[in-house]
Amino acid sequence: MTETTMTPQAQVPTGATVMGHWIDGHEVAGEGSRTGPVYDPALGVVQKEVRYGSASDVDTAVQVARTAFASWSEVSVAKRQGIMFAFRELLNARRGELAEILTAEHGKVLSDAGGEIARGLEVVEFACGLGHLLKGEFSDNVSTGVDVYSLKQPLGVVGIISPFNFPAMVPLWFFPLAIAAGNTVVLKPSEKDPTAANWMAALLKEAGLPDGVFNVVHGDKEAVDALLTHEHVASISFVGSTPIARYVYETATAHGKRVQALGGAKNHMLVLPDADLDLVADSAVNAGFGSAGERCMAISVVMAVDSIADELVGKITERMSRLTTGDGRRGCDMGPLITSAHRDKVSGYLDVAAADGATVVVDGREATFDGASDGFWLGPTLIDKVPTSSTVYTDEIFGPVLSVVRVEGYEEGMELIERVPYGNGTAIFTNDGGAARRFQREVQVGMVGVNVPIPVPVAYHSFGGWKASLFGDAKAYGPHGVEFFTREKAVTSRWLDPSHGGLNLGFPQHD
Ligand code: NAD
Repeated sequence: MTETTMTPQAQVPTGATVMGHWIDGHEVAGEGSRTGPVYDPALGVVQKEVRYGSASDVDTAVQVARTAFASWSEVSVAKRQGIMFAFRELLNARRGELAEILTAEHGKVLSDAGGEIARGLEVVEFACGLGHLLKGEFSDNVSTGVDVYSLKQPLGVVGIISPFNFPAMVPLWFFPLAIAAGNTVVLKPSEKDPTAANWMAALLKEAGLPDGVFNVVHGDKEAVDALLTHEHVASISFVGSTPIARYVYETATAHGKRVQALGGAKNHMLVLPDADLDLVADSAVNAGFGSAGERCMAISVVMAVDSIADELVGKITERMSRLTTGDGRRGCDMGPLITSAHRDKVSGYLDVAAADGATVVVDGREATFDGASDGFWLGPTLIDKVPTSSTVYTDEIFGPVLSVVRVEGYEEGMELIERVPYGNGTAIFTNDGGAARRFQREVQVGMVGVNVPIPVPVAYHSFGGWKASLFGDAKAYGPHGVEFFTREKAVTSRWLDPSHGGLNLGFPQHD
């Protein structure tokens, strides 16, 4: 979702809490005078304000992180890993507390918030063993008496900019590796659900992380631009919508930074006639409506081969009738959308679908909701026979709207995926190993599921798409993350040997 305007959407009640930035180990108000509302989407009310950082606030955080880098980069690998272990223990013990924050500000149901934290914890655990991946290489006696070896050194101050849909997990994709590798961090979280960032900052402090190593500046474009252009920020890790990812990539690289910028998605699931249709229907519903479809790895298009399409639509519809939508604290299957503006935008696609000749099989506007009447509700929605010319098909809707497109077979499905500008995730459902193998080799998408609908790689692989879903060369976490947050230095070394003296102005050669 791209906001055309970043101004607050509602007046904040006087007396509401105003949350500040986290700089040098403390919450601070900073100098920026603007604030924005943080909603409880299930209640539809503003629960607090968050400060929007100015360029001067970003500069303060970067200078603090720069000072901290001088000492943190000298701390031994063993001690850095020790702090990561302590953070892992605390996060694991208090994950319920964090899940409640996520549900209150994002709206996702508590069990889903727990899943988000579990996937973030994986990366912390990966960072606990980072010493193994920070090893350089060594070549003995490459020339007589000469050795060559490499060091992996931290970059300095790294910037992280994260989206609203995973307020804990996406920052956790980056900062544990960055910190364990010896960098210091300035995080600019989404202004829509900012509290998780401060909560994790306080937990890092409790785990023993020195002040200034991890900082949070809240805000919008002003804070982002200040990070992208700051001379002492070495790299930017961004996750969000494609237009902003492209902008971040172009701006930050023009300012000499290393950049990984993960963008939006439109993930297709190809269902061949030999697939287990009950597994397919379960998977499509789980991956289409989990977190109200506000996941970059959500399945938004089911491509069903004609011969099984009617049966599959029937099975999906039957499962949808059993879903409950409501307040995430009440044990429902699905929660509200992030804002009323986003809910209205998503439900607008239902009118588009009807106008474009698609069949609205389940209309989420007609659902009932177990929550406050002002919550940002839209129920699970199924649209069949969606024309590929419709914006229902071409746009990233980012809501609980599952489209079905009917195809003749494998070739037509593959052609459609080929034409999508995004390449984040995709899945094939089949019992034909040959077809699955061909699919995984041919498809132009960065993360592929075979009978798995949301193929998010584990922490020791790397996460990222192709095409307009990733700008830059490095994916998030895993081996790519370690490479991204370190730079290699090659050392050629010779210790004094009297036989190697003498003048020689020629280019170095080996003997
Ligand atoms: P967004 O692009 O609106 O915002 C992302 C971040 O950029 C936020 O911190 C926001 O404050 C900042 N921002 C927004 N507009 C800006 C501007 N004009 N200039 C500078 N900074 C700006 O994204 P969102 O709505 O928060 O998140 C949803 C999007 O993120 C979806 O498109 C989704 O697919 C994508 N996403 C992608 C991945 C992935 O791994 N590829 C993961 C999660 C979310």
